[in-house]
Amino acid sequence: MSVDPNTPVLRNCIHLPLPEDELIEVTGKAKDYAIMHGAAMRSKTSFSPDSLNFAPFVLVPSSFPRKEFEKAVGLQPIINRLMHNVAHDEEFITTTLAETIKVDEFTANLFNIYRKVLAHGFTQAYSIGLLRSDYLGHVYEGCAIKQVEINTVASSFGGIATHLVQLQNFVLRELGHADKLPKMPNNNALAGLCDGMVKAWDIYAKPQAVILFIIEDVSYNICDQRFHEFYIRETYPHIKVLRRTLTDVHREGKLGLNKELLLSGLEVAVIYFRAGYEPGHYHSQDEWDARYLMETSLAIKCPSIQYHLAGTKKVQQALAQPAVLERFINDPEEIKAVGKIFTGLYSLDDNDAGNATYEMALRTPEKFVLKPQREGGGNNVYGLDIPDALKRMSRVERSGWILMDLIHPPLTKGYMVRPGAEMPPTIVDMVSELGIFGVVIGDADHIIHNYQAGHMLRTKLATANEGGVAAGLGALDSPYLIDSDDEDEN
Ligand code: ADP
Ligand code: MG
Repeated sequence: MSVDPNTPVLRNCIHLPLPEDELIEVTGKAKDYAIMHGAAMRSKTSFSPDSLNFAPFVLVPSSFPRKEFEKAVGLQPIINRLMHNVAHDEEFITTTLAETIKVDEFTANLFNIYRKVLAHGFTQAYSIGLLRSDYLGHVYEGCAIKQVEINTVASSFGGIATHLVQLQNFVLRELGHADKLPKMPNNNALAGLCDGMVKAWDIYAKPQAVILFIIEDVSYNICDQRFHEFYIRETYPHIKVLRRTLTDVHREGKLGLNKELLLSGLEVAVIYFRAGYEPGHYHSQDEWDARYLMETSLAIKCPSIQYHLAGTKKVQQALAQPAVLERFINDPEEIKAVGKIFTGLYSLDDNDAGNATYEMALRTPEKFVLKPQREGGGNNVYGLDIPDALKRMSRVERSGWILMDLIHPPLTKGYMVRPGAEMPPTIVDMVSELGIFGVVIGDADHIIHNYQAGHMLRTKLATANEGGVAAGLGALDSPYLIDSDDEDEN
């Protein structure tokens, strides 16, 4: 992706570049600090279950406008409630996904589970959502935040993000800039998310029951997951945590007399899905059967199937249509505030509106990003690649996708540190995506817990379309909050 040379650059936290010897010294320390404090991952290129690499990180925290950060934090309880209401609106989910599931097999499989559960009635009325709403600032609107997506399944990095603040605090202190620390907001994502799981465990109200993490066959983002597990074990030692793949659950899982989920003789109170959000996690019908078994069980799911479906890109697109928010939010001020974070999102369903979107995308593809119903990065089509991609699809196939206005974030400048990369790092142009975590617990009629739970910042090279941390173009970061009337540091 090319970057418009007129893109504004946010003022830096500290004056850069650093003198080379100082940069080499502090980067070396920061790498070890990262490994020793769990800002780390398993290597994809030389995997070993016995070792870790530090996770890619940004050396000095990237600037983010304070006003927009606070806006995102303040909106989270409203977004939590919105998603909870959407998840419980059978008619909305069904009509919104009707065209999509004709062509998208993965979403159709999820929807089939939903349909079967609806037909038999929900065994467990409560759901827990551990959500993450992601934002980019948009320079054409004074860097106002625009929502990139909302995650309702496997919202990750709450664990590492919490520890990254300490890493960057350490770097700033080493560099003699302890005065900057007050502008880095505290981050209690890990505690907030895990306490949410434990609140769900309390609702289940069986002292012997466990929390089950559903994991991939190989977990590269192991530290983030283990932070959650170890936090629960250390803070609530009476609650056991199990880790199982979908395949394991198929092999070992069964339902008890009251439909309790039983695994190796233990009853499961809460299921936390860190896998199951992409087709590759389902090797065969066995894994789908396991998902269905869990869904029909008495365990409280994070997410339940209706929450998973509420997080699809298609539902996000439908929510951004005029007057739709009114169905889910009562307060006109809240509707206005949430409406403002949406950017243009367009249906590609096989109808007049969808055809108009298609024509628009062919005319000015540079303004858009094309998204399928997938999570986990690397699936979208950007700008000038869109026409070819669309033309290869039939009209019906297009309804598996949505079109979205491209957001133009401001730039920051800094050092990205990644395993195996050249030392010392060089200054690069970057853009940051803010994620705000939220916890919501309730049933169809009541919400009993609803709070914002910390944040994460992921920063990518300005020239990269996407900044997947594991994929290698993104790095973990945390925000340094700047005000419009700050003095210029540069
Ligand atoms: P995924 O579910 O794969 O994470 P996202 O919708 O978050 O899908 O898109 C992946 C990445 O693509 C985002 O993290 C962001 O960097 C980039 N991206 C997505 N939508 C937009 C957009 N509208 N404008 C600019 N960049 C975008
Ligand atoms: Mg994303």
